[in-house]
Amino acid sequence: MKTKCTKCGYESENNPVLFSLPICKICKKFAPKDPEQLEIYVDDKIDGHLLDSFRKFSEGGNAQKKAMIKKASQGNLMSRVPFGYKLENKKLVPAESFREVEEIFEEFLTTKISLRKIAKKHNFSINGLKKVLRNFTYIGKIKFNNQIHEGKHQPIVSSTLFNHVQNKLEKLGIK
Ligand SMILES: [Zn+2]
Repeated sequence: MKTKCTKCGYESENNPVLFSLPICKICKKFAPKDPEQLEIYVDDKIDGHLLDSFRKFSEGGNAQKKAMIKKASQGNLMSRVPFGYKLENKKLVPAESFREVEEIFEEFLTTKISLRKIAKKHNFSINGLKKVLRNFTYIGKIKFNNQIHEGKHQPIVSSTLFNHVQNKLEKLGIK
């Protein structure tokens, strides 16, 4: 029976199962061993077609994993296109909504409005909003496999603003 990878949506009869979640062989290579971490990992969805060029590699050895890390280190997006960006000729460029991202960062940093209210105002779930506030893509970086690389795309939030927001998230104990 075919199953769908919980992270990238890849359909296969050979998807392994981790803690009762079907996961494709590629996503499994980067999957954390801890069930709670795994949930966070699969929750960060990626487009399956992004991985297509890597599926041709043989499954033995680490060629596949190395190729993906290389792609990330060259500054290519390895996740879904985040809010505030769009793809143009396969390149990540700011979308019409890019100013709203900065607005969200400013709002969280400089006001006492709750996460819940900010999320509601901008049509996000609370978890969705937390992901926005922690997304390194906005400062022009690519985060992959717990490493941060210089991206090829244009930042839409300044590093200073981003860092202040990370400090506030930490100070408030927001997980
Ligand atoms: Zn997958």
